[in-house]
Amino acid sequence: MPPEIDDNVCTGCGKCVDLCAEDVFFGSGRGEVPMVTYPDVCFHCYCCVLDCPEEGAIHLRTPLTMMVPYK
Ligand code: SF4
Ligand code: SF4
Repeated sequence: MPPEIDDNVCTGCGKCVDLCAEDVFFGSGRGEVPMVTYPDVCFHCYCCVLDCPEEGAIHLRTPLTMMVPYK
């Protein structure tokens, strides 16, 4: 599942925009809630979730196929 940003929790700090290696988010970082512009390239590293200062602002769920361990 691609990341989703909760408009009611996000403060628009822009941290997720800066840190995502895949440029999934687009935003100014000046108080505007970022847009999720390239959701399909998210590889679920969880950096944005872990570094977001507002708990619960980014919702992300790892697809089931990525949870299956490889031998
Ligand atoms: S890091 Fe969190 S609070 Fe900051 S813009 Fe991204 S979702 Fe919003
Ligand atoms: S989980 Fe990783 S790749 Fe996906 S949007 Fe967040 S920082 Fe980018």
